Amino acid sequence: MTIIDGKLISGQVKAELKQEVEAIRAAGGKIPHLAAILIGDNGASETYVASKIRSCEEIGFTSSLVRRDSSATEEEVLAIIDTLNRDADIDGFIVQLPLPGHINVDKVIEAIDPRKDVDGFHPINVGRMAKGLPAYISATPFGVLELIKRYQIETSGKHCVVVGRSQIVGLPMSLLMERNDYPGNCTVTLAHSKTRNIKEICLQADILIAALGKPGFITADMVKEGAVVIDVGLTRVEDPSKKSGFALKGDVAFDEVAPKASYITPVPGGVGLMTVAALMHNTLLASKKEIYG
Ligand code: NAP
Repeated sequence: MTIIDGKLISGQVKAELKQEVEAIRAAGGKIPHLAAILIGDNGASETYVASKIRSCEEIGFTSSLVRRDSSATEEEVLAIIDTLNRDADIDGFIVQLPLPGHINVDKVIEAIDPRKDVDGFHPINVGRMAKGLPAYISATPFGVLELIKRYQIETSGKHCVVVGRSQIVGLPMSLLMERNDYPGNCTVTLAHSKTRNIKEICLQADILIAALGKPGFITADMVKEGAVVIDVGLTRVEDPSKKSGFALKGDVAFDEVAPKASYITPVPGGVGLMTVAALMHNTLLASKKEIYG
């Protein structure tokens, strides 16, 4: 059993990006600029945005943060997006989710210029990805693909079960695992909360990707001997033993599943770290205009 080391791989990806930025700087080129919009005071969102900004600093990107409190109206958020869309210095930007309930998230995402949508959430990027055209692939699925690639895990002809069908993780993950490419060429089953016999379906998986947000949901009796287990889940649970008062838990009961797996991602230290590295990768693509020219 191999524990997939998200810290190692995300470090490699970031080091490669840093090298590229240094070369751009030395050649007098434009330094990639990522902006983030953060609305409200959701603790997890604050942590994620802070880590994205820290990563920009480590790599040498320029970063900007636009903050508003949770009373910000939808119109205000759309106006910020319009400004960022038109700001030539900003190569890409993200709107940190979730947004306060009074703001329509689909409307907000559709307002982002697809050329700057480095989160890959805009319908144009999702559609292009589904068609196999150049597109920003959303950061979490992209991070999972990168882990599979760098560990040279065979995917062709395998049965991949993705648990969770969200727009930002499960659905794109399933499309990417079935595309005619590497990683890909899997036979994919996409499971969700209405799926019957989920245990039997998971047991058929050569590659099991859990993205449902239910800590410890995938137990050893749901996993085939030798399966590749990728845990996207990241749920904050109270833990008085931690200084922060909480711990991050994955969707996989790691201790009991790991002995059956051929490869497994831990939480923390797995997919989560890759997400930020993938966002940085997309930002570099945006600044080099590699997707849309
Ligand atoms: P989400 O939007 O809440 O979607 C959860 C999905 O899981 C839904 O499709 C839901 O089915 C399905 N589901 C819920 N309970 C289920 C059950 N008992 N059996 C089977 N399917 C079930 O969540 P998300 O945004 O995709 O995130 C999923 C997890 O990944 C969360 O823990 C989140 O924190 C984590 N995440 C991690 C990263 C990272 O960087 N590592 C990034 C994004 C998300 P229905 O569609 O039928 O409701």
